[in-house]
Amino acid sequence: MNFGLTSIALLCCCILLMCIHGCAGELPSNYSGIREQSSNSPIEQFELQRRQMVEYQLRNRSIRDERVLAAMSKVPRHQFVDSSWRDLAYSDRPLPIGHSQTISQPYIVAYMTEIAEIAPEDKVLEIGTGCGYQAAILGEIAKEVYSIEIIPQLAEKARRTLGQLGYENIEVKTGDGYQGWTEHAPYDAIIVTAAPEHIPQPLIDQLAINGKMVIPVGKWYQDIVVLTKTKDRIVEERTLPVRFVPMRRKFLEW
Ligand code: SAH
Repeated sequence: MNFGLTSIALLCCCILLMCIHGCAGELPSNYSGIREQSSNSPIEQFELQRRQMVEYQLRNRSIRDERVLAAMSKVPRHQFVDSSWRDLAYSDRPLPIGHSQTISQPYIVAYMTEIAEIAPEDKVLEIGTGCGYQAAILGEIAKEVYSIEIIPQLAEKARRTLGQLGYENIEVKTGDGYQGWTEHAPYDAIIVTAAPEHIPQPLIDQLAINGKMVIPVGKWYQDIVVLTKTKDRIVEERTLPVRFVPMRRKFLEW
């Protein structure tokens, strides 16, 4: 009896091991480049992963703005996440950045940047600095970037990372982004990366005429809204359904 059970257990283990081995051999074809060149330095491997991210996750999904694609090809996303998440930095998913917050998946960063239609001489406001990655992408394509983060530790860390990477056109402040940043207003574009239940009026007021705001709006179900401000009206267009962390009104340690 005991012998029978042991044999069945052994057989199950063998089948399980064969399955695991089989799955590991079935990596998708777009990973082959990375595996073939595993003797490259870590920096070269990250560069390769970044190029693949741009091809498979962005160009393939219709991101067309060459300036956005160039910025996404250049900014070292792996330097914005903790070392334990580095290997997944260029994967098609959001990643944790501490304090229960996340960095958006690369496609969402590129999509929001593209639809904001930012020109090289523009001044941009970002709400929700997080780790500073989206700010760096904006810093590559705009003249000046102002970014607000409500969690002081994240703001401090983002400031440090952006400083180490040499971004001199990005300023990060700790505070409640709901109120915007009046000192530098008006902004040619505003990108919000935390979701409020309605669009904050101070941000509409601080948007320049002909400027665009890109903002996820909603509680359980959110859509990215593109708000365009003209001389005599505000036009709002709902685009992608998304899931962002909520916009908070005050910082609570958690
Ligand atoms: N853009 C970021 C990711 C944003 S995650 C990046 O590239 O990493 C959303 C961020 O918004 C979180 O860091 C959260 O703390 C911040 N946030 C939430 N409510 C906020 C508010 N009222 N003002 C400023 N930042 C806020």
